[in-house]
Amino acid sequence: MGVADGWVEIGDRVFVRRYAFYDQNIGVVLGDGEALVVDTRSTHVQGREILSDLRELTAFAVTVVVDTHGHFDHAFGNHVFRPATIWGQDGCVPFMARTAEARRARIALETPEIAADLADVVIDPPDQTFASESSIVVGGRPVHLAFVGRGHTDHDILVSVPGTDVLFVGDLLENGAVPFYGDAYPLDWALTAAAIVPRVTGVVVPGHGDHADRAFAASQADSIAAVADLAQRVHAGELTLDDAVAEHPFPDHSPADARRPLERALQQLRNELA
Ligand SMILES: [Zn+2]
Repeated sequence: MGVADGWVEIGDRVFVRRYAFYDQNIGVVLGDGEALVVDTRSTHVQGREILSDLRELTAFAVTVVVDTHGHFDHAFGNHVFRPATIWGQDGCVPFMARTAEARRARIALETPEIAADLADVVIDPPDQTFASESSIVVGGRPVHLAFVGRGHTDHDILVSVPGTDVLFVGDLLENGAVPFYGDAYPLDWALTAAAIVPRVTGVVVPGHGDHADRAFAASQADSIAAVADLAQRVHAGELTLDDAVAEHPFPDHSPADARRPLERALQQLRNELA
């Protein structure tokens, strides 16, 4: 599955569009007369680009938004979709309250091309939340949300559409990049990723990179489990951190990229994570 331009229908009236900025996937589910959007990108400008691109698909209004998690690149476009209802897991709202302003400042420094836009973002977290599962409706069509455990953050959710074989997994899986561990719970993530694999019955849409299949999900789950296992061996004194980095499970990426996940896993093993 190569990079396609525009919207790709990956299930009955379920679409994904891959944006070059951060190689990010945005999902759409069409019901009768209404549309649901999965994730809203990094700024109001990028969010408006989704709305504009949606006109290629439908004239329906976006009445429901789902934030797979509260990272800025998934939730800072939220405000332009109002008055839509915005869904997230219970932990999404406090996460954004805790981190969003600091993240806005840091990303503005790291990513000058969106710095001016970031300054004007209205941070607008989900107004509807759930703990473990929720069935929501867009234009008469059910969409299922599930939290299966901590991982990439403490509140990542899965989005599935009954009657299709599509599963949106946010950044619990990433295709073509080392998963981002900055806010992760690496030991839990190994279990959460393993729990995703049997739920993939057709197309799995990661937060970033090409959409893929169960074999991809299984391979990523193995890599995420390997990070946890290597860190446990370092923590037990069986390996040095450098040895663990040398054995890292992301062979297409540099040792420096592989070190950060291991360091985060060691922090969790030392009970240094909140
Ligand atoms: Zn993320």
